[in-house]
Amino acid sequence: MTSPLKVPVNEPVLTKEAKQYVAEAMESGWISSAGKYIEQFEAEFAAFLGVKHAVTTTSGTTAIHLALATLNIGPGDEVIVPDFTMMGSILPVLYCGATPIFVDAKPETFNIDPSLIEKKITKKTKAIMPVHLYGQSADMDPILAIAKKHNLYVVEDAAEAHGATYKGCLCGSMGDIGCFSFYANKIITTGEGGMLVTNDDQLVARARTLKDLAHSPQKRFWHEEMGFNYRMTNLQAAVGLGQLKHIDEFIKHKQWMADRYREGLKGIKGLRLPAVKKDSLNVYWMYGVLVEESFPMAKDELRAALREKGVDTRDFFYSSASQPLFKDLPSAKESFPVSKMLSERGFYLPSGLALTEEQVDYVCSALREIASI
Ligand SMILES: *Cc1c(COP(=O)(O)O)cnc(C)c1O
Repeated sequence: MTSPLKVPVNEPVLTKEAKQYVAEAMESGWISSAGKYIEQFEAEFAAFLGVKHAVTTTSGTTAIHLALATLNIGPGDEVIVPDFTMMGSILPVLYCGATPIFVDAKPETFNIDPSLIEKKITKKTKAIMPVHLYGQSADMDPILAIAKKHNLYVVEDAAEAHGATYKGCLCGSMGDIGCFSFYANKIITTGEGGMLVTNDDQLVARARTLKDLAHSPQKRFWHEEMGFNYRMTNLQAAVGLGQLKHIDEFIKHKQWMADRYREGLKGIKGLRLPAVKKDSLNVYWMYGVLVEESFPMAKDELRAALREKGVDTRDFFYSSASQPLFKDLPSAKESFPVSKMLSERGFYLPSGLALTEEQVDYVCSALREIASI
């Protein structure tokens, strides 16, 4: 390998429809949050997920904040969240003045461990937020059962899991509210953007009011409570609709990528590949691997060696409880051994939708060379 290929960790694929619709939106003059693409994107996204309602927002983070605000979660309330996740899942709990209660992960799926949830429930608990990390569904049956037993809401953070399924159900459609992100590296993108989905007519009405400054439904410019401006623009929705037309292909590409990595990386001692679960469809937002003790070098060295060969990678998230932001939070004082292990050992390989066969094969042979097998 004399001239290394450059393999970026992610590159978005912008479809011709996205470009065409955005040009049409520009032509039409409807560039703010009124315009046909908003409605179409919401309707088609709801249809894709098989839910009644979808509401566009400005990001995944604001979709989650809007979800919690819609459920009246506020000061004094507790929300059960995975310790191992991206901060976009947790910050909205703080925006509401509520308290995140961290729960450790399962080592195979990286997702919240349902067997650890019940002992964290108190009188203050209002909701559980499973996050479907890296495209793999959380174990929803026990989570939904615990929520039902204790009368708690379930808000799914499906920001990394468009099209992923659990026992035939689409991620984001199983809880009271599901939230998605359309950041540039997500499975479909609007540049920046998000979506809140629900089957509940009352919740959707409240979410629509809150996202648009909470004008009184009877009287515009009259405000009985605090709202937000979380309105997506028609231009972003045009991009989203154009992307959504190709989501099935995108998901197939992700699965092709995972199959090829699995084949190409087979048998490398100490490199743990993502578990394949029979009951769920992983959409491999990112192809995450763990560097175990038996690997010839530590994760940072491996990542540096890959970088030298032109292969860009990213570290896993940190344990939330280890973040300086939470140094005074009682629930962050506990230990989260699995989450800690994941952040120490995990990183992800190039996983973008633009990946070619040549690039995946190059990454695999670079890794094999480094592991010298
Ligand atoms: C991307 C992401 C978010 C936040 O989405 P933004 O659109 O970047 O605000 C939230 N949760 C998870 C798990 C994410 O991956």
